[in-house]
Amino acid sequence: MDTNIVIIGAGVVGLAIARELSFHYSDIYVIEKNHTFGQETSSRNSEVIHSGIYYPYGSLKAKLCVEGKQELYNYCQANHIPHKKIGKLIVATNQYEETTVIKLYEQGINNGVSDLSILSAAEIHNKEPHIQATLALYSPSTGIIDTTALMKQLETDAINNGVNFVYRNEVVAIQKHNSGYIVSIQCEQQIFQFSARVVINSAGLFSDQIAHISGTFEPHYELHFWKGEYFSVHNGKHKYIRHLIYPVPTPQHVSLGVHATLNIQGRLRLGPNAIFLPNKHIDYSVNINHRNEFYESVSHFLPFIDFNDIEPEQAGIRPKLQKPGDSIRDFIIKNEYEKGYENFINLIGIESPGLTCCLAIAKYVKSLIL
Ligand SMILES: Cc1cc2nc3c(=O)[nH]c(=O)nc-3n(C[C@H](O)[C@H](O)[C@H](O)COP(=O)(O)OP(=O)(O)OC[C@H]3O[C@@H](n4cnc5c(N)ncnc54)[C@H](O)[C@@H]3O)c2cc1C
Repeated sequence: MDTNIVIIGAGVVGLAIARELSFHYSDIYVIEKNHTFGQETSSRNSEVIHSGIYYPYGSLKAKLCVEGKQELYNYCQANHIPHKKIGKLIVATNQYEETTVIKLYEQGINNGVSDLSILSAAEIHNKEPHIQATLALYSPSTGIIDTTALMKQLETDAINNGVNFVYRNEVVAIQKHNSGYIVSIQCEQQIFQFSARVVINSAGLFSDQIAHISGTFEPHYELHFWKGEYFSVHNGKHKYIRHLIYPVPTPQHVSLGVHATLNIQGRLRLGPNAIFLPNKHIDYSVNINHRNEFYESVSHFLPFIDFNDIEPEQAGIRPKLQKPGDSIRDFIIKNEYEKGYENFINLIGIESPGLTCCLAIAKYVKSLIL
């Protein structure tokens, strides 16, 4: 079949790209191996709209997060997608953490997050009487979102604009052909082929493999899997906080630290931790033996949580470019024309804040098409 654009993957990023491109192009196909959208990382995350504090100045993560946050709030409002701008506190409980909080404040301001403030212990107590902290960074523009409702709306918009969704089909081969590509997809035992002028690789955890089969792979595109487990908090403890409460991030920014989030239904949960999966095995189990580790990592700033309040919930896997010992890496979003692969666009390492950035990523991808 002859098409104009093939998008690989119907996670939140592929869906946002499909919607954005549908305003400018026709003949767009989204190929997804699962039976519907968002069955992988996009439905296994904290559902937080980040404000843009954590990422190095000038990085795509910083730029697309600050832009994407505002676009996402506007889109949610226009389409009645459940969300709440509830704000977040990054808390310090000792002098070392206080220094980190101040550095994060400065980085956030540099990144264009203009509404940040530093709260004293007394001010923290006024906002959150049940937590313990000596200093906090307050981010009022952080929020929460119903990710499934967001993805449904993105898919609906794309379908209404003529995008075709091909579920239960896996991309298994890609060949460069004349000025485009032949994309082979497999459904059960059958193989079908699409020819496309533009191919967009938004395959999440498998985006480095797609780069491999297309011939566009480079060693620094290799992904590393880091599992993040969540535990839910019961016994009415969700009533004890009104904002999202985060500790300072882990060194090297492997994760934001086990934090407390409220979801749109008001459920309180802790997580995610960060467990390196050396053999890249997809494993979404939550280890009950990590309960104590979760309890201990939050008990100094969330003293109202008892050991018996927490239960294993779910896990997600971060598609990280960073392996153990590396420092933070930026998203790779690139038209591979310099390698001779014009209009083959790779999106690799779209970990957090990929959900927040999805609409801004989509516009950025549009700008890369030649
Ligand atoms: C624990 C955790 C917490 C997070 N918390 C947040 C947060 O609070 N806020 C935030 O902004 N971000 C957060 N993120 C990041 C966010 O979830 C991701 O950036 C985002 O979901 C990535 O979306 P995606 O569409 O790129 O990937 P995915 O959702 O993984 O979608 C990729 C799709 O490609 C499909 N696919 C793969 N290979 C093929 C193939 N060969 N053929 C066909 N289809 C294929 C897959 O089936 C999948 O559906 C978190 C991530 C994790 C893991």
